[in-house]
Amino acid sequence: MKSASYEDLMNNLKYLSKKELDKISKAFLCASNLHKGQKRQSGEDYVSHPLTVAFILSEMKADSDTICAALLHDTIEDTDITKDKLEIMFNKDIATLVDGVTKISKMNFSSREEQVATNTRKIITSLDEDVRIVIVKLADRLHNMRTLDFKSEFKQKENALETMEIFVPLAYYLGAYQLKNELEDLSLKYLKPNKYHEIQAIMEKTSPELNEITEEMLSEMNELLEQHDIPFELVARIKNVYGIYKNISKGKKLADIHDLLAIKVIVNDIKDCYLTLGAIHSKYNPLNSKFKDYIAMPKTNMYQSLHTTVFGPGDYLVQTQIRTSQMNLVNTYGLTAYWDLNKENAKSTMQKELKSKFQFFKLLTEINALTSDNQEFVSQVKSELFNGSIYVYTPKGDIIELPYGSTPIDFAYKIHTDVGNTMVGAIVNDNPEAIDYILQNKDRVKIITDPLSFGPRAEWQEKVHTMKAKRLIREFNR
Ligand code: MN
Repeated sequence: MKSASYEDLMNNLKYLSKKELDKISKAFLCASNLHKGQKRQSGEDYVSHPLTVAFILSEMKADSDTICAALLHDTIEDTDITKDKLEIMFNKDIATLVDGVTKISKMNFSSREEQVATNTRKIITSLDEDVRIVIVKLADRLHNMRTLDFKSEFKQKENALETMEIFVPLAYYLGAYQLKNELEDLSLKYLKPNKYHEIQAIMEKTSPELNEITEEMLSEMNELLEQHDIPFELVARIKNVYGIYKNISKGKKLADIHDLLAIKVIVNDIKDCYLTLGAIHSKYNPLNSKFKDYIAMPKTNMYQSLHTTVFGPGDYLVQTQIRTSQMNLVNTYGLTAYWDLNKENAKSTMQKELKSKFQFFKLLTEINALTSDNQEFVSQVKSELFNGSIYVYTPKGDIIELPYGSTPIDFAYKIHTDVGNTMVGAIVNDNPEAIDYILQNKDRVKIITDPLSFGPRAEWQEKVHTMKAKRLIREFNR
């Protein structure tokens, strides 16, 4: 992947005003002067790196302060400039963003574990200060991963592992799927090169057949939607290498991956989403178990779409993903898209969305408040968030996200402290279950409470998985 030039960047920024573009030109000049004479390991001028990071963010339609911060993101660390000077030359937000990105990478501790833990905590807590720090850091990581060939094999593996452990989950929780998918593929390429190339070879062999199916499906759907008078746009996508790898390593065959080929149908409004669904089901037989309504019930990272896997041409399974163009923007770029949709103050818009809509943020804040030990913080975040989650329903159908291994007691405390403290039993999918039953994806959970209960017994600490529930039980018994 080639580096972006200044012209590439400017061409991509047509959505900004003249005044904002002037600020960005100034940031570019400043960065090129400061990095003058510095080279990347590829031999290119150093400034090509911040320029490409800014370019990646321009594709996400980031606001002008984020673009400036991307251009300047390595200046505090690698040159003589200070945060205060940046604030005088630009503004407070840009200075804070650059400083935040710098703090994440610049740390020296005696033990590597402690360094990694402190760094990870810094990344995660900077979400609270300004989520754009993490977004710049993600774009920085993406460019570094794209150019990893120039590093030693040890560095490659180390970076790829850290990317999988921290940056991929962050991109997922922020809903930035495009970034997440590329980071996953690049990590796999360095962590398991043989598997990566094996899957690439399989895909190359299958691609003529797959292309044919895609063309046929696209033309059929074109005709179908025109018949129904629904304005639409169609985009085909093949699952990323990492996604295919995960399925194959579970023993699936390529043909059994129900969303190997997906067709995105982008329409004007929600009404048209459901009309499109009806039209598709009138023509193709759906695979019943694979229908999902993420419009009525968004994923906890705010992903919205209707998914239905149908028997397509040649009996191939094809997943159709039906969404509005706004949803598509959010599904592709995640939280960054909210600024673009509102075109208001980027920072306050994005912080407000993060705090009100994204469940993972509340959990991070809770874990952060519960422990001062960095290694404990990171291991808790990994076990409660980054190792994957289950999604269960309240009796009203609200979706609650919990870590694998959670029990009804964890669920009760997630709902409210009082619910946990007065809990006497649990009904799961209409059946009474033990309070330490391990919850499964899609369980419906109802907690039985009794105001006269004796409250949680100290032994319950052993029956829970989340740090919050453990602490509340301990406090109750003190
Ligand atoms: Mn950098």
